[in-house]
Amino acid sequence: MARVGIWKCPECQLHQTWKTRSDKSNKLDRKCTGCEKRVRTTLDRSASGKGRVRNVEIWERNPNDWASLEEEVRRRNEGSVADSIASINENENRRLAESFRP
Ligand SMILES: [Zn+2]
Repeated sequence: MARVGIWKCPECQLHQTWKTRSDKSNKLDRKCTGCEKRVRTTLDRSASGKGRVRNVEIWERNPNDWASLEEEVRRRNEGSVADSIASINENENRRLAESFRP
């Protein structure tokens, strides 16, 4: 099962989905569909977004629920989800990790 989630482009603020090749992979290499900026970062244990690349916000989500993921991306890009700060990301990710990891 791949790891999936959302990242936010530091250049144009566009939220997009990401997906790793496997659950062992922690490398993220994406090109923004909005401004074509290339972002390479490493998912850490908590995927808190405090990775190697400054200002790239990353959220990890349940890989079994791709529809909700796309819905969340849409809502974030519409601005109907408040921009989260790092501490909120960490709380979200902790809750997520508890909810679906064995
Ligand atoms: Zn961009």
